[in-house]
Amino acid sequence: MSTSLRSQEELAKQKQRIDASGLYFNVPPGDKDPIVYSPSYNISFLGMEKLHPFDSSKWGRVQKFLADEGVLNRKRIVEPVEATRDDLLVVHSEEYLDSLKCSSVVAQIAEVPPIALLPNFVVQWKVLKPFRKQVGGTVLSAKLAKERGWAINIGGGFHHCCATEGGGFCAHADISLAIQFAYTRLGITRVMIIDLDAHQGNGHERDFMNDDRVYIVDLYNSDIYPWDHEAKRRMNQSVTLKSGTKTDQYLELLSQALKKAEAIFKPELVVYNAGSDILEGDPLGRLLVTPEGVKQRDEIVFQFAKDQHAPILMLTSGGYMKTSARVIADSITNLGAKGLISLPSGGSVSASCCALK
Ligand SMILES: [Zn+2]
Repeated sequence: MSTSLRSQEELAKQKQRIDASGLYFNVPPGDKDPIVYSPSYNISFLGMEKLHPFDSSKWGRVQKFLADEGVLNRKRIVEPVEATRDDLLVVHSEEYLDSLKCSSVVAQIAEVPPIALLPNFVVQWKVLKPFRKQVGGTVLSAKLAKERGWAINIGGGFHHCCATEGGGFCAHADISLAIQFAYTRLGITRVMIIDLDAHQGNGHERDFMNDDRVYIVDLYNSDIYPWDHEAKRRMNQSVTLKSGTKTDQYLELLSQALKKAEAIFKPELVVYNAGSDILEGDPLGRLLVTPEGVKQRDEIVFQFAKDQHAPILMLTSGGYMKTSARVIADSITNLGAKGLISLPSGGSVSASCCALK
């Protein structure tokens, strides 16, 4: 259900849940960098992950590349708290959460049919728990972004899931949750979602259908899943791409879209859904953006947020080829080298690291 159509009673309950949540906790700047990750993000059991075209340990591999190369200090990574049922109810319906107690529903969402044959406690433990932990990471990242100017959750970005329905490997609406928490706990009233995963972000589009505090820019391949024409109506900018779109054209369309957004909407928080399935060779995204193009894309978005003096939180979202983790790690390293984020390897604290006015 969209927020603006909720009853007063439901809104009061939602606020109560957000206020009582343990997902926001204090992270002292001296001890930690605003990079959020947990080893329990990764899904790996019984060889099941091999049945899916996804590299379901991508998140751990991104973290390992960055740590091994000295870009990231493991001790300074922020480990989030797993989202509880009460946290998830901030956005999701009871009926939807109950439906996940049926393994066949989860199998459909995760697109791994054999999951349907497993007892639900195994599915909860091995599939849904990692997702819930990543949701906790996305929600906390918004708080860290506001405090530090930027934050990266090495996970999350489940943009096909809305309050009442999951799909496309997305079981929980982490973006919608993070924004509801930011409204209530951070006093934020204007959020820009820049969704650059190759697929349409129909989950958050449905959740914010009647909420004009959110401005949505979505660049996506309209030839592929989810073909959600109803959700498409909610986008402020719908930039449709064709299969086979190359780097130069992609970056040009992105720059144009951000220029247009800048003139219309002044965000207090940018939620950047940075799917790497735009990469050439990705069997699901079907675009032809090079690894260098992904780096440039991320740079353009972080520079945009910096110019707007808006805190930015990045989610890694889709893109699960074996090569994706390398590209994501290289891009994060590049953001540090360019001074758009501050990491131990160098790179200065960006100008966007100021509190909101
Ligand atoms: Zn995608």
